Amino acid sequence: MKVLKAFALTAVISVSVIFSQSTQRPQNIIILIGDGMGSNYVSAAVLNLPNSPFRKFTSIGFSITCAADKLITDSAPGATALSTGYRTNYYYIGVDTLGNHLPTIFDEAERLNLSTGLVVTSTVTHATPAAFVAHTINRKEEKEIAKQFTNKDIDVVIGGGAKYFNNDGTSSSGSSNFDILKQNNYDIYTNIDELLGIQHTNKFYALLEEEQLKRANERNYSLADLTKKALPLLSQNEKGFILMIEGSQIDWGAHENNQEYTLSELNDFCGAINVALDFAEESGNTLVVVTADHETGGMSINGGKPDGSEIIMKFTTTGHTAEMVGVFAKGPGEELFRGVYDNYMIGRKLFQLLNPDFQF
Ligand code: MG
Ligand code: ZN
Repeated sequence: MKVLKAFALTAVISVSVIFSQSTQRPQNIIILIGDGMGSNYVSAAVLNLPNSPFRKFTSIGFSITCAADKLITDSAPGATALSTGYRTNYYYIGVDTLGNHLPTIFDEAERLNLSTGLVVTSTVTHATPAAFVAHTINRKEEKEIAKQFTNKDIDVVIGGGAKYFNNDGTSSSGSSNFDILKQNNYDIYTNIDELLGIQHTNKFYALLEEEQLKRANERNYSLADLTKKALPLLSQNEKGFILMIEGSQIDWGAHENNQEYTLSELNDFCGAINVALDFAEESGNTLVVVTADHETGGMSINGGKPDGSEIIMKFTTTGHTAEMVGVFAKGPGEELFRGVYDNYMIGRKLFQLLNPDFQF
């Protein structure tokens, strides 16, 4: 393990970002993270799901997903690599291996007056979205993470986790996190009908369940529907926006080794990717990047029908693996995402697309 750590740290220090003068910079960036979505799941989507978007991408890469202190990562350092451009330790969020706070691409976007948004199917305080907002060495501190959300100026937050913002999240001053957000001029929605029924002109939180959202096949709305509610408000900003969308529960289906659960979450995520690609095609100045934080389940497709209408998934673990994951990019700057590279380089590429002068 000592050898691995030394290797990982050396890699972080020695690699500089490749960003040439000819690289086009997008106005808007949409990054979609399929939690646990190794390239085996991309294969499953391409073979089995009619709405698979993956053939539409024109720049493809592979990301090496290790954490700084473990070969096999969890979602916290997995997402921190993408959101900050640094590899960190197991369970760490938005901090380096010593626990120092790192700026995230959302912080940089806010500093540049771009709009920011998060759309997920877990609690919004879960490891993946938290890594774009919060700083802590323990991903399980969701109350503390929720508190940190109220200090940021994110324009759109959609997902689950209302319990961390209502009375459960009450501070010693007696104000809940929702109270603080309202004081900061946010609109708050706690059910899907409120969210879908309104044309949004003001920044908002829509936390649709106390905990995570229901499973895709138990909801009467999709991740694509939620994405469609985020884009109009974000795209009002002429300077641009950055939006992170997570198919959070692909990972959970894979942890259960549950093919039906995994595939329906994957299908839900594919719908959101298609919405992002349609928006990007219309806008012409939007980069779409799809990747994963790690692979889950050590899954392989062991059989099925020739047309892919049936596939048989076999799993080798109920945990994560160190398989490389795919990176799919389309739009201005997409060529940066070609090749084989460490996960934190995705964060560095995103930072440099926001601000070419940003130094690592
Ligand atoms: Mg996640
Ligand atoms: Zn997991």
